[in-house]
Amino acid sequence: MARVLTFDCWRTLLHERVGAAARRDRTVMVAWELGLDLEPADALIQRAWEHHVARWTVGVSYTSRDMARAVLDEVDAHAPGRLERIAACFEEAIVEHGVTPVEGAVDLVCRLRDAGVPVALICDTGFSPGRVVRKLLASVGFPAFDAYAFSDEVGVPKPHGAMFAAALRGLGAQPAEAAHVGDLRRTDVAGARAAGLTALRFRGVFDDTDENHPEAHGVLDALAQVAEWRTG
Ligand SMILES: [Mg+2]
Repeated sequence: MARVLTFDCWRTLLHERVGAAARRDRTVMVAWELGLDLEPADALIQRAWEHHVARWTVGVSYTSRDMARAVLDEVDAHAPGRLERIAACFEEAIVEHGVTPVEGAVDLVCRLRDAGVPVALICDTGFSPGRVVRKLLASVGFPAFDAYAFSDEVGVPKPHGAMFAAALRGLGAQPAEAAHVGDLRRTDVAGARAAGLTALRFRGVFDDTDENHPEAHGVLDALAQVAEWRTG
């Protein structure tokens, strides 16, 4: 039984699209900016992304601006305004190509909002910061959430308790009143459990079998099953 709900974003509400088109936009921009061929430009961005993943895995926020800096550091190509231009391209590339909501996700969040259930988003960000993810959610029909916790804004990613605390503060709720829905055991399930929330693992898009991290209180194959946990 939960009075309020918090949701992960990628692979819970939105399909993760590292999209080939957005990737190519970033590559073309970096190649043009630095006078490189496409292949080495793509390799630079790939290594910057790997830095992001390595930091995220140890609980450190690493933004598009950090990735742009990594690219410029590697080829020693800093110039006035360049860091800002590359970072902006990294952040915005996904917008033009769009995202797809997970089946049933928009309907679920709309129905919860209509029923007066407070809902929050707790999202670890990659290339796209919270500012952009808000736009992406609205673009496919999600209503506004009552609170948001984005790792680039909070300063640390899940499973850090600060992410869950920020969302609950925004909802005016205690951990015991909340259930968190997400796909990853290391971040969503372990983080929610440690913060005192009920953890629900949604495996309809990605089934996380990593047994190095705890299993959730409940495992959902479809988002519609969230309703059962809300009403107990
Ligand atoms: Mg996810």
